[in-house]
Amino acid sequence: MSFKKVGIIGAGQMGNGIAQVAASTGLPVQVMDVSDESLKKGLATVEKSLGRLLKKEKITQDQKEKTLKLIEWSTSLESLKSCDIVIEAATENLELKLQIIRNLNEVLDESAILCSNTSSISITKMASVYKKPENFAGMHFMNPVPIMVLVEGIKGLQTSDQNFARVKLFAEDLGKTFVVSEDRPGFIVNRILMPMINEAAYTVMEGICTVEDADAAMKLGTNQPMGPLTLADFIGLDTCLAIMNVLYDGMGDSKYRPCPLLAKYVEAG
Ligand code: NAD
Repeated sequence: MSFKKVGIIGAGQMGNGIAQVAASTGLPVQVMDVSDESLKKGLATVEKSLGRLLKKEKITQDQKEKTLKLIEWSTSLESLKSCDIVIEAATENLELKLQIIRNLNEVLDESAILCSNTSSISITKMASVYKKPENFAGMHFMNPVPIMVLVEGIKGLQTSDQNFARVKLFAEDLGKTFVVSEDRPGFIVNRILMPMINEAAYTVMEGICTVEDADAAMKLGTNQPMGPLTLADFIGLDTCLAIMNVLYDGMGDSKYRPCPLLAKYVEAG
């Protein structure tokens, strides 16, 4: 194993999934979240997910118990002190993430690696507030983490080659396939996926087709497991809109303008 103890910030959808996968490989995991409720929900989600794997006979009762025992849950940032790799998976908000990183400057060891699971924020910008920018990288897991095999690795401007190689090794230890992206808006997956989802919203807005037909066309015509608009609901329309705005602002190119219908649905809640 490339690291001894994994820290995770944020016990939400992504954080608890990463915790489960890391603990399943036998690594001790410390999860930190500001919300007690999120920690409880995170634990319940991991229990349920492991329960499903047990039912499908993919793991044994013993493996389930061992995995659960390896994960500790806390509201204290200090609890991450002994972690040699920490993955930040808190809410997608630039100021919030920058504050977490500044606070970690006081907690983590100089040699610790810090990664962010951000979907859209610049890794280079986040690294700039960390005491060791060469130890900072992007590790973009896919949702749901226990099922999706891909991790996008993002090298910030100052990430050292040596540390990036350790991050790759860590992803592989977790059983994931690591692809490398430059630190550009959307990285690889969202740079390609979000404009497709956005364009699907345009086909509906322009009256070209119904929601159902847009999804059926892409599902049956291009062999995707689900249509782009179903996928948009699964990701969350607000998240899709936020990522489109990141592409639009970050690239300064009108081809990334968010579809007004998508924006309207987000406004409607
Ligand atoms: P989520 O809302 O499910 O969880 C976020 C968690 O962060 C919450 O439990 C919240 O209490 C916690 N949090 C907020 N402020 C905090 C702080 N200061 N310290 C510690 N914890 C704090 O969100 P999510 O979907 O798990 O997304 C987390 C990150 O992963 C985001 O950066 C997101 O862009 C990224 N991501 C999400 C997906 C996805 O499909 N949901 C996929 C890939 C990457």
